[in-house]
Amino acid sequence: MPEPRYRVAIVGAGPSGLFAAQFLTARDDIEVDIFDRLPTPYGLLRYGVAPDHTSIKAVAHALARVFDSPAVRFLGLVGFGRDVTREELLAGYDAVIYAVGASEDLRMGVPGEDAAASRSAREFVAWYSGHPDAEPQSLDGVRQAATIGVGNVAVDVARILVKEPLALDVTDMPADVLAELRRARLTDVWVIGRRGLQHASFTTTELRELCRTPGVAVSVDPEAFEGIADDDLDRRTRANVAVLREASATPVAAPRMRLHFLFWRRPVELRSDPVRGLLVERTRLNGAGRVVGTGETELLDVELVLRAIGYRAVRLPEVPFDHALGVIPSEHGRVLDGTAVAPREYVVGWIKRGPIGVIGTNKSDARETVEHVLADLEELGPRPDRIDLVATLAARGFLPSSYDDWRRIEAAEANRGASHQRERMKIEAWHELLDLVQAERPGGPIPPT
Ligand code: NAP
Repeated sequence: MPEPRYRVAIVGAGPSGLFAAQFLTARDDIEVDIFDRLPTPYGLLRYGVAPDHTSIKAVAHALARVFDSPAVRFLGLVGFGRDVTREELLAGYDAVIYAVGASEDLRMGVPGEDAAASRSAREFVAWYSGHPDAEPQSLDGVRQAATIGVGNVAVDVARILVKEPLALDVTDMPADVLAELRRARLTDVWVIGRRGLQHASFTTTELRELCRTPGVAVSVDPEAFEGIADDDLDRRTRANVAVLREASATPVAAPRMRLHFLFWRRPVELRSDPVRGLLVERTRLNGAGRVVGTGETELLDVELVLRAIGYRAVRLPEVPFDHALGVIPSEHGRVLDGTAVAPREYVVGWIKRGPIGVIGTNKSDARETVEHVLADLEELGPRPDRIDLVATLAARGFLPSSYDDWRRIEAAEANRGASHQRERMKIEAWHELLDLVQAERPGGPIPPT
């Protein structure tokens, strides 16, 4: 095996970063360091894909193989801008690939949005996925809940809410989350779209799974089907319409839970005092195809509103950012600073193309970026004055967590799972994760702030 000539840093150990690492290590002259803020790799595969979607989670097994390569290192607990800067990364690597995804959520911009009864689906997903930063979510007193948005995230959170909690017992959800779901006394969940059923972005498999949840009676506002001609629809939309037609026509004896689909409504206010509920306004498309309100409103008697209206990326310090699009501007994966290409800087995943697409979309996306990384490395060669960044960090007394540390976390999760007859149970507390990281390294990494 030849001496590695090139060293590439990937910032973010989620699916897009790991696909990029996979493509890079197909070559035997490249070493890859994968940095992450957390001591756990896999990003949204671990903390975004619903715990009951085990077949998608299995992608993690395939992606884990990237760490089998001696050319790949995992460097956890490294905050970009906090523990390392853009300048340092660029000094230490021949190429830097940003794969940080979109970690915030969009806001509805309506009164009452910040009330306790209003939360983002992102926070809710983070909670049930056992993310160490997630705030505990309470379903106390919630009988009716609404999700705003008709994409796959809305479908995920609606499914977790309507599902019989016992059916989630086999997942890796933390014990506290399962206990809260078991305690919940929900009767109705609303899924609300600001445009029509024909405009919804959820995919048919996910929609069908939600609608076929045992014990759940589905109702669809009949107006949703009006004016929809099957011949005008693409395959996915036609299948979605068929799923909702069938679900709303299928009686469910003594339902455990009711699931309502409401289209052509947009949230206008979340009321808490004196009346609780969600005020929605009917909508239509204007001549320009934009959603406008008709002025007709109705109050839904819900105690919890989860907005699932899309994710938003956060700017990395010093790195170019397009605030309007919420991405690092790029051309075929090469970062753009203004109109010029920023040498040796690249992007993959949601921070490149925006928060759209499923896990697999990241594969072709990463392939495109890596092709350009490789072409540029051929042209530029290794950086002549490259520093050893990990040694520089160590000299500062900062030790990132390692893949072995992650394996220890994984083993502890498997142990915890075994005592509950499950394959794994997530460890969600920062202090427990850090204890496991530090178990074998006194004075280990700086705890996250
Ligand atoms: P999404 O598919 O873009 O859906 C966002 C929804 O929010 C749309 O219905 C959108 O309506 C609505 N919306 C946006 N702004 C709104 C506002 N101000 N008021 C009311 N509604 C608003 O995004 P997502 O559900 O967050 O999913 C992100 C990506 O992850 C998608 O590509 C998705 O497929 C993927 N994902 C996949 C899975 C899976 O495969 N199981 C699971 C989760 C996520 P308009 O269309 O009118 O803008």
